Amino acid sequence: MPGGDNSVRVAVMPGDGIGREVTEATLAVLDVLVRRHGLGVAFETLEAGAFCYRDTGTAMSEETFRRAEAADAILLGAMGWPGIRYADGTEIAPQLDLRFRLGLYAGVRPIRAIPGLPTVLADPRAAGIDLVILRESTEGLFFSRDRGTVTAEAAEETLRITRGTTERLARFSFRLAEQRAAARGRRGVVTLVDKANVFRAFAFMRSIFDGVAKEFPGVESRSHYVDAMALDLVRRPWEFDVLPTENMFGDILSDLAAGLIGGMGFAPSADIGDGHAVFQPSHGTAPDIAGQGIANPTAMLLSAAMMLDWLGGRGAGGAWQEAARALEAAVDGAFAAGLRTRDVGGKDGTAAVVAEVLRMINEMP
Ligand code: ATP
Ligand code: MG
Repeated sequence: MPGGDNSVRVAVMPGDGIGREVTEATLAVLDVLVRRHGLGVAFETLEAGAFCYRDTGTAMSEETFRRAEAADAILLGAMGWPGIRYADGTEIAPQLDLRFRLGLYAGVRPIRAIPGLPTVLADPRAAGIDLVILRESTEGLFFSRDRGTVTAEAAEETLRITRGTTERLARFSFRLAEQRAAARGRRGVVTLVDKANVFRAFAFMRSIFDGVAKEFPGVESRSHYVDAMALDLVRRPWEFDVLPTENMFGDILSDLAAGLIGGMGFAPSADIGDGHAVFQPSHGTAPDIAGQGIANPTAMLLSAAMMLDWLGGRGAGGAWQEAARALEAAVDGAFAAGLRTRDVGGKDGTAAVVAEVLRMINEMP
């Protein structure tokens, strides 16, 4: 990636509902952070989503898609709204179109306990929760999103697992486990989550993972059935590291895992392909709390940190990764200092999070 001023272009898609609120909060923090770290970045805001569909007749225009595609990274709030649907009645979800059209097969969803934050698990080991759910994001049960058939008597959907995508996901998993192990000074463990005892598609997926595992002798390779994983994610989540899984399983398990660390407001995500990436909170537009200034922007702040990290890893330079670490440390510091958002029983709204995180950043040497 070239150096120099504003050489990195980030497309910002605020979307709908609290997507807009957490995007505004995140840009306010990024604005200060990029100046402090001397990062050359230009943000370009692009409209897409349910209200865009209502107002313009298209949820994401081709022009908008092309501008997003041409950017170095895409930072996205959340999209969709109850009552606004396509003519065929399906939900407005241009963020899914981005995943499919840009081939963003790896849905990276880190679940990390924020130090000092009270959570639903009383066990003190819960403070050590630090795992990543790796949700395959282009096929699995979502493959038939536009292809399922419904008659008066039956509805059918297709589960599709391909060798190419599974091999890429497996390599991504093991490389991620290696990186995490290096940063944490321990051995990496990849646990494939499937249902290989019942479905041939998952047995196929498992055999491909087993093959790729041989290329990574330094990483421990395991597998776990999805039902057992639901149990163990509640019983002993601190024991897991990298958890690659099928699209639908990943959708469900990442919500479950977010619940362990304070809720959707703390769960960042990145959808990464070969060359493109979208960074967005794992949550949706939260119509129940939109417009009240109470959304927790932490998930999007942590997603922005993942974006800085990824841009740095592509060769943009160590300053980007330093900025990513500073942002994470500022979020941790703010909660350690007593910040408590509504979703964890406190009173602090979106603006209070921004103010506290900025205070932490400005206090850093
Ligand atoms: P999607 O279909 O996009 O997954 P969803 O319908 O599952 O969306 P979300 O919008 O993710 O729902 O919201 C689920 C619940 O979590 C809601 O009660 C919402 O208020 C809450 N929630 C989500 N994000 C946040 C946030 N950033 N801060 C506080 N509460 C949130
Ligand atoms: Mg959801």
